[in-house]
Amino acid sequence: MPGAIKASFQTKLFLAALTSVVIALAVAGALFSMAMRRQTDERIEQTLIAEARLAADSLARGTPALRPGSWQADVAALDAEADRIGDLVGARVTFIAPDGRVLGDSAETLAGIAAMENHAGRPEVVAARQSGLGVSRRYSDTLKIDMLYAAVPAKHPSIAVVRVALPLTDVRHQLQAILTATLTALGLALAGAAAIGWMMSARIGQRVHMVAQVAARYRVGDLTPPRLDYGDDELGTVARALDDSVQEVGRRLAAQARDRARMEAILAGMIEGVIVVDPQGRLQLANHAARHMLKLDDLALGRHYVETIRHPAIAELVASALAGRSPEALQLSPPRDPSWTIVARAAPATSGGVHGAVLVLHDITDLRRTDQVRRDFVANVSHELRTPITAIRGYVEALSEGDATPEDSRRFVEIIARHTLRMERLVKDLLRLARLDAKQETLELVSCETRSLIQAVTADLASALEGRGQRMSIAIASDAETLRGDSAKLQDALRNLVANAISYAPEQTTIRVEASRLDGRVTVSVSDEGPGIPEEDLSRVFERFYRVDKSRARDPGGTGLGLAIVKHLVELHGGEVRAENRAEGGARFTIILPS
Ligand code: ADP
Repeated sequence: MPGAIKASFQTKLFLAALTSVVIALAVAGALFSMAMRRQTDERIEQTLIAEARLAADSLARGTPALRPGSWQADVAALDAEADRIGDLVGARVTFIAPDGRVLGDSAETLAGIAAMENHAGRPEVVAARQSGLGVSRRYSDTLKIDMLYAAVPAKHPSIAVVRVALPLTDVRHQLQAILTATLTALGLALAGAAAIGWMMSARIGQRVHMVAQVAARYRVGDLTPPRLDYGDDELGTVARALDDSVQEVGRRLAAQARDRARMEAILAGMIEGVIVVDPQGRLQLANHAARHMLKLDDLALGRHYVETIRHPAIAELVASALAGRSPEALQLSPPRDPSWTIVARAAPATSGGVHGAVLVLHDITDLRRTDQVRRDFVANVSHELRTPITAIRGYVEALSEGDATPEDSRRFVEIIARHTLRMERLVKDLLRLARLDAKQETLELVSCETRSLIQAVTADLASALEGRGQRMSIAIASDAETLRGDSAKLQDALRNLVANAISYAPEQTTIRVEASRLDGRVTVSVSDEGPGIPEEDLSRVFERFYRVDKSRARDPGGTGLGLAIVKHLVELHGGEVRAENRAEGGARFTIILPS
């Protein structure tokens, strides 16, 4: 609520300024009026004393003394003198005889004077006689009001003391006037100060409001630097310093967010699972791979690793990393999926003397599988080579003994030649697979005539076909007369499929090669009337050295690599090859080329 902030801040500032001005003015006013009152009081008193002295002096200079015979007349003359002086000084003037009788008073008639009390005991009179000056404030019995008296001795034969008096109400009036003037001045000063204070507090309030608005914007996350002039004073300096700090913090936060995004992108892209555990054992971070491997859900973050990682061996690894140790890597299978193999490594992540832990999970299932395949392959190759080598060695030994008949010798040599041929085929197929594996064979894609492709294969295998009395039937759909591919490689693939059909189908049967177009893709299928392939082996016949009938492994005809080569060659084209059994019996192999 910036408005409320402004109002309250401005009002507070104004009230503070006003209060201090009021206090300052009140103190100054009080001191001033006190000083003025004292001064005025003193001045009035001094004036009264001076007037008393003047009156006494005037008496001494020419006023005749009382004569015994004309007492009444002389007192009247003295009273008249008192009235005259009283008029001159504007105060009550009283003449007092040495015995205390009043001989003249400007405020009384002659009759009144006669009735007046003896004044010898009046404090100012007593003091005047003793010390030459008496001043007193008190209630006048004669006038029935408070009076200020000043009395001095007179050098006059009949008058001992001259007293001048002023009603205290007069004095108070004068003092009141001073007070009123002071208060008026103070009131004006206060009004002026209030106006100036209000204007100043409004300006400062406005600036504070401006800074508060920027702060409110920062609070909701908008850190765009404001184009504001904060001013050159302390408020401006503070606002600028805070603004600079916010901008700096903003820059650091942005850099941190960038780093974090980068790190998250890296972690998300990693195939290794990464888990970070804080020193209290709570999961701070788990990337996608780790969640997948350990089957963690989104709620696992922030929870203790013992509750979430439900694999005792991994939990133990994390525990020792949290204790600051670097445990040995472990090989294990994730929970509920024993077909996987994972290598788990944990290391302490130390910061500020406390240990968190980083756990890295490496899925080596594929590595292990590849390793297994490689080992199987080596075993298979050795096995495949052992059969012909053993046979060749046996017949070579038999020949070298020299006791074989010429007919046996010819038969032995033939057998040796067949096994040598089989070994040559095996090595040739192995080398081809190796080349295909290493992607050393490149495609030369051209538009080919489907029919001439198939006929070239038939021509290659003509003698084998003839040998087994088999027929070839070729059917090419009108939309599949041409296809796009590497003619030599497609011929190799087809030759393998037709050769298999010749080998596995009985004699005097028909082998069908059909080409058609399906969904824009050309398919070429080879069907035979042979025994077909058991359903459970259909998916595996393309594996290296996989044979349906293991006893045929001894058959020197096949290497067990033909279909693996076909698969490679078709996949090189971006196509696929499928094996299936025909409903009417026999196997069908279909090559599907991409459109
Ligand atoms: P091979 O050199 O043994 O023929 P292939 O890789 O060409 O090796 O074939 C693998 C296995 O698939 C063969 O051993 C055979 O059991 C089976 N097979 C291949 N083609 C046919 C077919 N047309 N009819 C029946 N079985 C076949």
